[in-house]
Amino acid sequence: MVKVEPITTARVLRGPFDYSAPEGAVVGTRLIVPFGRRDVPGVVTGLAHDSEHELVAPHRVLDPPLPRDLVELAFWLADEYCSTPARALALLAPHPGQRAKTALYAEPAPAVESSIAPAHGGQPTTRRADGAPAARLTGAQRALLASLPRFCGPDTAALRRLEARGLVRIASRVVRRAPVHLTVGAERPQPALSCDQDAAVAAIGSAAPGEALLLHGVTGSGKTEVYLRAAADTLAGGRSVIVLVPEIGLTPQIVARFVARFGDTVAVLHSRLGAGERHDEWLRLRRGEARICVGPRSAVFAPLDDLGLVVVDEEHDASYKHEGDPRYDARRVAAFRARQAGAVLVAGSATPRPESFSRLRRIRLPARVDGQELPPVEVLDMRRAPRALHPRVHDALASARKAIVLLNRRGWSNFLTCRSCGRAWECPNCDVTLVLHRAEAAVACHHCGHRERVPGSCPDCRSTSIARHGTGTERLADELSASLPAGVRVFRLDADVGQAAGVLQAFGTARQGILVGTQMVAKGHDFPDVELAVVVDADATLRFPDFRAEERTFALVAQLAGRAGRSAAGGRVMVQTLAPGAEAIRFAAAHDADGFLASELERREALRYPPFSTLIRIVCSAGEVGPALAAAEAVRDRLGPQPALGPAALFRLRGRERAQLVVKAADRRGAIDRVRSAVEAVSADKLHRAAAFSVDVDPQ
Ligand code: ADP
Ligand code: ZN
Ligand code: ZN
Repeated sequence: MVKVEPITTARVLRGPFDYSAPEGAVVGTRLIVPFGRRDVPGVVTGLAHDSEHELVAPHRVLDPPLPRDLVELAFWLADEYCSTPARALALLAPHPGQRAKTALYAEPAPAVESSIAPAHGGQPTTRRADGAPAARLTGAQRALLASLPRFCGPDTAALRRLEARGLVRIASRVVRRAPVHLTVGAERPQPALSCDQDAAVAAIGSAAPGEALLLHGVTGSGKTEVYLRAAADTLAGGRSVIVLVPEIGLTPQIVARFVARFGDTVAVLHSRLGAGERHDEWLRLRRGEARICVGPRSAVFAPLDDLGLVVVDEEHDASYKHEGDPRYDARRVAAFRARQAGAVLVAGSATPRPESFSRLRRIRLPARVDGQELPPVEVLDMRRAPRALHPRVHDALASARKAIVLLNRRGWSNFLTCRSCGRAWECPNCDVTLVLHRAEAAVACHHCGHRERVPGSCPDCRSTSIARHGTGTERLADELSASLPAGVRVFRLDADVGQAAGVLQAFGTARQGILVGTQMVAKGHDFPDVELAVVVDADATLRFPDFRAEERTFALVAQLAGRAGRSAAGGRVMVQTLAPGAEAIRFAAAHDADGFLASELERREALRYPPFSTLIRIVCSAGEVGPALAAAEAVRDRLGPQPALGPAALFRLRGRERAQLVVKAADRRGAIDRVRSAVEAVSADKLHRAAAFSVDVDPQ
């Protein structure tokens, strides 16, 4: 018999459950099992000889099984992030989706390409059974193709009937749905490594199995080239590689470089793939046809055997934390997989997290490969500046050939008020103001997505005089286009712009222009001709009441500075701030990551923040304030001697009142276990039926 974990989202129904063993079952076998009155997907998590229960047979086995290592990983994930094995297993399936039942385990049919030829000779034409457009055709083929669908439409059965009548011949084969969006240039010649790069590759090659290294290199120091060489060495040793990147849309260059160098050995897994593409890439990895997986955080679950190297590029990036249950951190999962497989973990960044800096063995790439100095940074005190841009910044933008301007606020202005009665426009579901998006004539909530038409008048006093406060990227881009010389093109990049890659490409190929955007503009892309980088409001991140505020501000300013000054003309950086004395800004202006990290680690140690402790955040939510607070109090009371901060009320979100508890603990394992049992006990208590619970270990 087999022990099966049914994939359901219920917290209370805990597997595994016993079923009779289908033939050839192993740990990892995926199947469909009858469960209560439903059929649900499940995964075999153990094998045993006999059971005291009467056994039911699974309906169906899905091929291929999950690797055994990933089943083990799922149990660790469930434990580490206070979740359930079923939810963790759902993440590891070939097609994680929202609805476990259909999206998760429904296998997309393979893509079949059929050659259709008239039975009496003539040239074959090609058409894909899934209706995708055919490739280049001759005139005759096109005529044939045009006539065939009239007879058979998208219906292959009709085509088969034509074949049965001897009118056409059909030859079919399974084709790979390759992710087509990648534009891969010709492979650049492999450069000779610098001494520092050489030493880095050697250090990775000689690291102990399971060891984690920090590749700390300034932007443009050739980290990607180090990953490429280390990956080649790993493949040559017969082992496989995972490369994690922050976001494919923003960092297409690194993916393209891997594909250019390793070709079909690379599989790409990310959320924007179609189900068919994803399935095919997953199978290529599972079967060992692809040995390198590149992708964002979920690629850490790639079904690769014999893992030898796991790379986490831009390891400081916040996108490595997953915001759904289980709230995993891909960097921690990467370290687990490396230890599990005896692989080497390489975390790379110009602005490493204090956690990695203090815990991992460091390898340095101290200089840019092109030998250029990092650009000078000018800090501008905005406390007396009347406008969004300092006059000096405005002048510099007018004369720079290419510039990047970072403003971490999207939309036109961040809130509206009525000039006569003072009414502010707020989200009906959340306690936040609505942001004006002028191009869409809408005001929107950036937390729940609620949208309304731009108000023409005040519903309270009928006044039509409405003030717009603050400046977002939309407004800044608009004002810059209006005030700069006519030849300067302004490009905007933020979450409201659909095609991030397209905007980046247009900016990259333009002769002259300004790229205005949110933090997306500071990510790992590499434009050689940017002369000026501007941070409009460097303290926006500092104002967050969060112990990571300093770290984020430092990284944002330093990363943006790294985007400038790769041009032959050199470059410069201008940072506008209301807090010119803040450490994060002073150290970033001096390009002093070591200085910043040393001082930040001292501060964290004094305050017992991570990496000197583990934080766990528990959020209880309910329709009313009372039940949310009561649930949080009940959890706190059940934590025993474990000290917890709170409960504190959080702002209302998506119509839910929320109360938060924060546990700060030296003993990570013990604290996670205590939180888990406290939350399970309170959520099972009928008194707290109205409350929902979310546990976040290592919140961001
Ligand atoms: P990072 O990832 O540290 O920002 P990259 O690996 O992207 O740096 O390198 C920056 C640029 O330098 C890239 O265009 C890359 O092709 C080039 N490069 C990297 N290593 C070398 C080298 N050893 N010699 C010459 N050019 C190199
Ligand atoms: Zn009013
Ligand atoms: Zn809202």
